[in-house]
Amino acid sequence: MKANCDTPGLMPIEQAMNIMMDAIVPIAEASTCYLSHAVDRVIAQDIISPIQVPAYDNSAMDGYAFKYADYLASNTLVQVGKSFAGSNFEGQLSAGQCIRIMTGGAIPVGADTVVMQENTVADGHKITIMHASKGDAIRPAGDDIQKGALVLPKGHRITPLDIGLLASLGIPSVKVFRQLTVAVFSTGDELLPVGSPARNDRIYDTNRPMLVAMLSRLGAKVLDLGIIADDKALIRAALEHANIHADCVITSGGVSVGEADYTREILEEYGKVEFWKLAIKPGKPLAFGKLPNSLFFGLPGNPVSSAVTFDHIATPALKFLAGCNDVPSMPLPAVASSAFKKRPGRTDYQRAYYFVDKKGQLCVETSVSQSSGVLSSFKTCNCYAILEQDRASVCIGEVVNILPFSVPII
Ligand code: AMP
Ligand code: MG
Repeated sequence: MKANCDTPGLMPIEQAMNIMMDAIVPIAEASTCYLSHAVDRVIAQDIISPIQVPAYDNSAMDGYAFKYADYLASNTLVQVGKSFAGSNFEGQLSAGQCIRIMTGGAIPVGADTVVMQENTVADGHKITIMHASKGDAIRPAGDDIQKGALVLPKGHRITPLDIGLLASLGIPSVKVFRQLTVAVFSTGDELLPVGSPARNDRIYDTNRPMLVAMLSRLGAKVLDLGIIADDKALIRAALEHANIHADCVITSGGVSVGEADYTREILEEYGKVEFWKLAIKPGKPLAFGKLPNSLFFGLPGNPVSSAVTFDHIATPALKFLAGCNDVPSMPLPAVASSAFKKRPGRTDYQRAYYFVDKKGQLCVETSVSQSSGVLSSFKTCNCYAILEQDRASVCIGEVVNILPFSVPII
């Protein structure tokens, strides 16, 4: 269903996402990168397997390898050798013979079955097999990956698991897109840098360290430009500097309609505003646009709003800009176990907690505080509850889409 914006002047999130993606041209420059540095980088070419994995039929168990037809003839076989991982049995099995084999050991010519040692009785070299089924415990060559198979597609962001996959193929380096450089600064006369003594008329700059960390997690290089006072000329100078050195500039604060909120004004003069008021909560005042050479996000000042808009709006944009086309996480339907307060007109990204109840049903309850000033409320939550724009308050028992907070490791 296409959302209608019934709040004047606010753009529905779906429309904003379309405008944003249309405004972005993914970077094309690529270079070669060793596996040791490739995690979180975006692959610039399809990765095709140069070999099959495993390269040879091998044993999935510690036990004995033999020909099944021999076992049918007599369940006591004679052990004539060994095949350990990395040390093969070079001979060929004859009738009535078996070999000792360890997990990963190559299956010798003439064998077609492995029995695990727990199902055998050994008397010197005489091995009696209690029970076996044909083809047991053999990992066939190419079972994991066939030669010539597409392993990772262009545009995929490399995870630690992918590093293992590439290593299993003997691929030492991959072509990756250039890392993004993202400049970050905070605006506000009230902000103190972390490390300076606390003052009761100031607040610590929370957004910048948080955004720098979030950007690092995304695999971007960060240009930290510090705190800029609420001064139009200083903000403009910082934006001009950032525009030269970065692919994207992210600021926080100064995008609402307060007297000291210059960011959007400067964007209008120096670049192009694509949107600056979204029908979302939290994060209504959010400016997105283009500077002469870079993209621009003016995130709201409240730390919760900064975090949520970074997660849901800036992150997909930065991934796309970086050449990444991984499918976004899919929301999961959960049953509301508490009421969720909401007014129609904006899409809500409420902090929430999901769990599985005694009946095995995925449930979600809202966080007590949805204030955009209460950053600590994230710590008792494990997901967003996404409440659609036209939706009103949610009653217990209604289905709500959730998006678990996640740290991608695979
Ligand atoms: P603004 O959008 O500049 O009006 O800021 C909205 C609210 O967020 C104000 O209460 C600011 O003090 C607060 N705020 C702005 N920037 C930051 C920041 N970097 N860290 C923590 N709070 C901030
Ligand atoms: Mg401000």
